Amino acid sequence: MIPFSPPRIDQKIIDEVTDTLRSGWITTGPKTKRFEKELSAYYGAAATLCLNSATAGLELMLRWFGVGAGDEVILPAYTYSATANVIMHCGATPVFVDVADDFNIDINTIRRAITAKTKVIMPVDFAGFPCDYDALNALVHEIDIKKLFSPNSPEQRQLARIMILSDAAHSLGARYKGRLTGSLTDVSVFSFHAVKNLTTAEGGAIALCLPEPFDNQAIYQQLCVKSLHGQNKDALAKMQKGNWRYDIVEPGYKMNMTDIMAAIGLVELSRYESETLPKRKQICRAYSEKLSKFSWAITPSLHQVDTESSYHLYPLRIAGVNEAQRDEIIRRISDKDVSVNVHFIPVPMMSYYRGLGYNMLDYPIAYQLYAAEISLPVFYALDDNQLQVVVDSVVTAVHDVLNQ
Ligand SMILES: *Cc1c(COP(=O)(O)O)cnc(C)c1O
Repeated sequence: MIPFSPPRIDQKIIDEVTDTLRSGWITTGPKTKRFEKELSAYYGAAATLCLNSATAGLELMLRWFGVGAGDEVILPAYTYSATANVIMHCGATPVFVDVADDFNIDINTIRRAITAKTKVIMPVDFAGFPCDYDALNALVHEIDIKKLFSPNSPEQRQLARIMILSDAAHSLGARYKGRLTGSLTDVSVFSFHAVKNLTTAEGGAIALCLPEPFDNQAIYQQLCVKSLHGQNKDALAKMQKGNWRYDIVEPGYKMNMTDIMAAIGLVELSRYESETLPKRKQICRAYSEKLSKFSWAITPSLHQVDTESSYHLYPLRIAGVNEAQRDEIIRRISDKDVSVNVHFIPVPMMSYYRGLGYNMLDYPIAYQLYAAEISLPVFYALDDNQLQVVVDSVVTAVHDVLNQ
């Protein structure tokens, strides 16, 4: 059985986690704080807050910006449900837009979707391929679009335009014009879920790059409080001699990262550029080399002039198949003991969102991409023999189904 994306758990990880367990400090503490600093230095953000998931980070930032009932948030139809669910949690309205042929949100469809109620745009770096951040950042600065913006929180008044909250769950380490995701727009949120490129089992991080006059360090402190019950001191601070008294300044959330999680993350980050990314790149390039000779294979964008993926997913497409044929191809690949997936079933297709009145016919490109998509396994331990088994199983399954 070739798995889809097992985590890389070796002695180094076990030793670092054991060190935390033996240290006497297992929840948020020195390792989480070190992980935050190392992440900020890695991708070049002003500050990073680590949390228990990306979902928590996205919701915290919507709430920090004062997004609520009556507000609209624009996001691509082609994403995981978390991106939309957090908008619902805040009582705001998800405004899905169609994507372009690279699976990422389409700037022109965003432009048409912007109204006086739009508060945030949430682009998604699908599969790890960064969105066009220069275009996104320019769009929210356009005079007519800024004029339309009607702020109703102090943070909205200070920014005086739509905020870009990037769902960068896939794109840690991705490059755009010489910079890394996490430094490209107002706020980026990473996921360290078990299947992501860099894992802490569960986990996520908010990378802050809000423009002047925002003070990202002060916002980091504010978010620490918001993410931990609204308590003005964290557990570590309360541990200091005689420092027991604390206050609750708002009804905060419980979203903190533990030092056990950060221990895994520190090891993962220390070898991310030297081992993880090169290996994932090698696997994805090998898939493209082996598959691009078939006329039915639409291989994904991995590397363009200014833009390079983090190689999180390998979203292959099969030209000319419908959804049922794609499903049959997957069934045949699975029969060969190869695990593949579909990323994603677009959110408007989910029963809950359909029930709200969203209709997949409004997102024709997202549907086309989805109906033909098969994500191939990408993980650190995948060797050349396994890779060939994956390719052979795909080729055989596609030929059998296309010749039926
Ligand atoms: C995984 C994922 C998330 C959620 O990440 P969690 O850390 O599990 O909350 C959000 N958006 C996208 C696109 C994802 O793939």
